[in-house]
Amino acid sequence: AKIAVDQALRSGGNDVSYFDVTVGQAHARRVELARNLEHAIARDELTLVMQPQLSADGRRLIGGEALLRWQTNGKFVSPAEFIPVAEESGLILEIGDWVLDRACQMTAHYRELGLTDLVIAINISPRQFMQEGFVERVNQVLETYQLPPSSIELEITESTIMDNEDGGMKMLQELKQLGVSLAIDDFGTGYSSLSYLKQFPVDKLKIDRSFIQSIDVSTDDQAIVLSLCQLAKNLNLSVLAEGVESQPQLDVLAQFNCDAIQGYFFSKPLADSDFINFSLRYLADDSEKLAITEKIN
Ligand code: C2E
Ligand code: MG
Ligand code: MG
Ligand code: MG
Repeated sequence: AKIAVDQALRSGGNDVSYFDVTVGQAHARRVELARNLEHAIARDELTLVMQPQLSADGRRLIGGEALLRWQTNGKFVSPAEFIPVAEESGLILEIGDWVLDRACQMTAHYRELGLTDLVIAINISPRQFMQEGFVERVNQVLETYQLPPSSIELEITESTIMDNEDGGMKMLQELKQLGVSLAIDDFGTGYSSLSYLKQFPVDKLKIDRSFIQSIDVSTDDQAIVLSLCQLAKNLNLSVLAEGVESQPQLDVLAQFNCDAIQGYFFSKPLADSDFINFSLRYLADDSEKLAITEKIN
């Protein structure tokens, strides 16, 4: 790409072949991904990893976010790349069902082991959210694994709700009625107006990582995040900061009365068994630890 850019610049920007080549390549890549993604489930190429979520003081494990991983031809493809492809091709419905099922199965396993306080967060794509019968599907999966609805949390972005006008709000209400927890993901990056926010029957705001990244040094980001934390408090919502990587960032967030934290500072997303081991550290009582250790070994 560097050479193509140089060529385009040398030709005074009139050389369109750079754009043709890269747009063409990007398209070919998406087509290839879509073709492979179609077989991802059948070939058993998908897994869920679990990223711990902790109270802001770091003392309590409150749950985890299930994040999808796809390994194909020996390589991992980032969800940031393949989720949009899945969304565009419609494959996200099948993949989303798989994620929902697997995440609930994992949640049931944690509960069986005695980790009954954990709430497991599951990302829901726009198309999945508006899919006919989505609430019924969620209900069905909860029944299959005998889960209390409050043991899972669905993460939805602002635009997913807003792009659907009344439909989005209705869907939220039905899900809320079912009893699952609802979180707005990547909060601050969408365009939801605050007047809408107060009407959303959601439980949690997840402040996007982009606001957290420089929070230890940027007074602008501090001002934004402090406002978001206060807004959440005033609306009776809980607030979680995404992408916390350092102690100084954590210190600022604790000062702002942020409730919960997710990020590399505490843990990267973990394989299922590593998440279980991680969770043992947060059990107060040694006999509980021992009981779980015996069950997993
Ligand atoms: P997200 O839901 O906002 O998930 C958080 C992302 O931030 C994850 O990236 C996570 O690994 C990353 N992250 C967490 N802590 C840190 C940190 O301290 N530093 C940095 N640099 N990154 C951190 P991941 O797993 O690559 O997922 C990217 C996005 O793909 C997710 O963003 C979500 O929008 C989407 N995605 C992932 N799994 C699923 C899924 O099962 N279904 C759907 N629909 N979307 C998914
Ligand atoms: Mg998320
Ligand atoms: Mg997020
Ligand atoms: Mg994000």
